[in-house]
Amino acid sequence: MFKAFLIKYAEIGVKGKNRYLFEDALVSQIRYSLKQIDGTFKVHKTAGRIFVEALSDFDTDEAIEQLKTVFGIAGICPVVILEDEGFEALSEEVVTYMERVHPEKNKTFKVMARRSRKNYALDSMEINNKLGGVILRAFPEMKVDVHNPEIYLNVEIREKIYIYSQVIPGPGGMPVGTNGKAMLLLSGGIDSPVAGYMIAKRGVQIEAVYFHAPPYTSERAKQKVADLAQLISRYTGPIKLHVINFTEIQLYIYEKCPHEELTIIMRRYMMRIAEQIAKESGCLGLITGESIGQVASQTLHSLACTDEVCELPVYRPVIGFDKQEIVDISLKINTYETSILPFEDCCTIFVAKHPVTKPNLKIIQHHENNLEESIDQMMERAVHTRQIIQTV
Ligand code: ATP
Ligand code: MG
Repeated sequence: MFKAFLIKYAEIGVKGKNRYLFEDALVSQIRYSLKQIDGTFKVHKTAGRIFVEALSDFDTDEAIEQLKTVFGIAGICPVVILEDEGFEALSEEVVTYMERVHPEKNKTFKVMARRSRKNYALDSMEINNKLGGVILRAFPEMKVDVHNPEIYLNVEIREKIYIYSQVIPGPGGMPVGTNGKAMLLLSGGIDSPVAGYMIAKRGVQIEAVYFHAPPYTSERAKQKVADLAQLISRYTGPIKLHVINFTEIQLYIYEKCPHEELTIIMRRYMMRIAEQIAKESGCLGLITGESIGQVASQTLHSLACTDEVCELPVYRPVIGFDKQEIVDISLKINTYETSILPFEDCCTIFVAKHPVTKPNLKIIQHHENNLEESIDQMMERAVHTRQIIQTV
């Protein structure tokens, strides 16, 4: 029945030149997203709006599900397109439309006609009045409410005639690509995929880095992270995942530094390496899934200590969330099941029984001096030998 979708977007501040950037990015994200399903679609801007028209058969529900993953979309209106075969025919089609789309008839409505083709015999007011009458005669339970109707029936007269009345909520946010790029530290946990999703929702393109410690962390642990990147790419668009071999550095820290400071020092090196790759890739910030107090390395003291090594801003979108709130998002974006698969995590391999929760920056820096001899070459080697996995 539906042949097209009208895409509504609503972000304040999308004005002037920004409006074009926003719309163009949205069009390209919609195209990318619809490529993943069967069907041929034409996505185009017309008169300040975005239309998705189907050029082949397609599954309406599947297309809607897909559009719900495109950030920047506030609402999705399924549209019926008719040839103009006179007002009589239009009236019949409108009755059929109401019957199918709004089976519950005890509702108020308003017809909103728009006549873009000026040679149409009736003007907008006349179309509103006549179609209103047609609907009232067909469904006497319905009532007109011009101020606050439950159903807005839009009828647009163009070359063809477009009818729509439903607005299915989109994900909101801004189209990916309108707000630069950032580097996500993606582990196999629950939090970091959610963090990446949340930043992408604001229009930021995502690249990712994973620290792998073979043989202490398995191939399956790495595959799990690649799978998580694939799952969030449904929302973020394609992701380039850098896999860093972190074993040598981790063992070196283990050998040279106090064990209760291991996690925090290790995290400082993760951030340093992530930042180096981020800068090379043109990323403007780092993203982590940290949340205050969740574990020893996420106290305010520890976070301050981790931050100290970074020049780029570190974005932590789940910082104030409880675990359950993060879990709820991971369920919504379908990463939860993968995140809870029980593969070892490189952070947990060497953890001390009693890691410091209030690291003293001066002391940490002092102990990092023990690494002076080889750490620079090791970091260089880690960056140089990284593996790149591209989501499909
Ligand atoms: P997550 O659920 O995201 O794994 P977590 O609660 O397990 O987080 P930590 O292990 O302390 O917390 O990690 C904090 C953050 O550091 C993660 O959210 C992630 O951004 C980053 N991180 C941790 N381990 C790795 C890793 N092996 N590779 C890349 N990033 C990592
Ligand atoms: Mg983790």
